[in-house]
Amino acid sequence: MTIRPKPPQRLFIPGPTDVLPEVLAAQTRPMMGHRSKEFEALFAKCEGQLKQLFYTESRVYIVASSGTGMHEAAIRNAVGGRVLNFVSGAFGRRWYDVSVGCAKEAIRVDVEWNTAVKASHVVEALEIALDDGPVDAVTVVHNETSTGVIAPVGEIAAAVRTVSPETLVLADAVSSFGGVKIPVDEWGVDLCLTSSQKALALPPGLAFAAVSDRLLERAAGISGRGWYFDFLNLEKSLVKNTTPATPAISLMNALSLQLDIIFEEGLEARFARHARCAGLTHEWALENGFALMAEAGYRSPTVTTVANNQGVDIADLNRFLGERDMKISNGYGVYKDKAFRIAHMGETDEGDMARLFVAINAYLGREE
Ligand SMILES: *Cc1c(COP(=O)(O)O)cnc(C)c1O
Repeated sequence: MTIRPKPPQRLFIPGPTDVLPEVLAAQTRPMMGHRSKEFEALFAKCEGQLKQLFYTESRVYIVASSGTGMHEAAIRNAVGGRVLNFVSGAFGRRWYDVSVGCAKEAIRVDVEWNTAVKASHVVEALEIALDDGPVDAVTVVHNETSTGVIAPVGEIAAAVRTVSPETLVLADAVSSFGGVKIPVDEWGVDLCLTSSQKALALPPGLAFAAVSDRLLERAAGISGRGWYFDFLNLEKSLVKNTTPATPAISLMNALSLQLDIIFEEGLEARFARHARCAGLTHEWALENGFALMAEAGYRSPTVTTVANNQGVDIADLNRFLGERDMKISNGYGVYKDKAFRIAHMGETDEGDMARLFVAINAYLGREE
């Protein structure tokens, strides 16, 4: 195995995450024409590896946008009429806002923050909604970055299939993909989207989505799909290993190298590393008198939300950490200053976590 230079991680924020120097450098390769065999080979390689990472036999679209572009693509291609949006944090809300913005009939179902959306919530809301007619799709967030809660998407998708087999399941895995196993086909998820700058540890600017055959068939009957994000358009190009518009070639060079590095580490090893870093974060928080915000049993392997029950000045803590070239996140929205978030995703390992905890303990006056 190649020994890869890995400087200490600096960003313990849930995206963007630190990128390996050689992956950053891959972006400086000379340009190529995108209507070339060379680009088709790059596209085919990346798509093939992404399919393995999504555990899917279907297809993975690669677009130049942040993850939110794929939310818009998902809604425009999968929803003609009604969509049920489950909201238990900021990114569940994002699905709802995008649905409304695309002029769909969006039904928002709120679930308490810091708890997971579960199959029982989905069954209950879906049964009520079905009384008024069909529901084209449900949207869920796999890993709610604002709260640090991971949802049982496989169980949710199975429940949707039982209650309403025609309803598509759309999942946002922006902050879990690449850090947590997401077996898209086994779970029966019709669309699973992510972006480059979180657990994949790439610069921002690329979005990816695994899309099922039945979603594509549905899209054919839906008008107003737009053009840039039209899946039928993307599909025509994908079968020729290319994209309809000019791709982000430099980012795709970085993606290609990073995918090799991910497979070199091994998927199971990578997922296990994320789980260990989450475990260390939980231990550190509890040993130091903090509490965890996320519901037990549904704590994210990529980001931990810690209750700020000691009234720590988070901005001042971050100034202290900044002097040591590190950064954590404040609580999201109403949890600003009431909680703080520590991300442990991408390239972050146990040594990085230890360095962060030594620094936070020093700030808190608990030098060891
Ligand atoms: C960061 C994030 C998004 C937004 O992704 P962008 O790439 O910034 O558009 C959406 N959902 C979740 C869960 C996220 O963590």
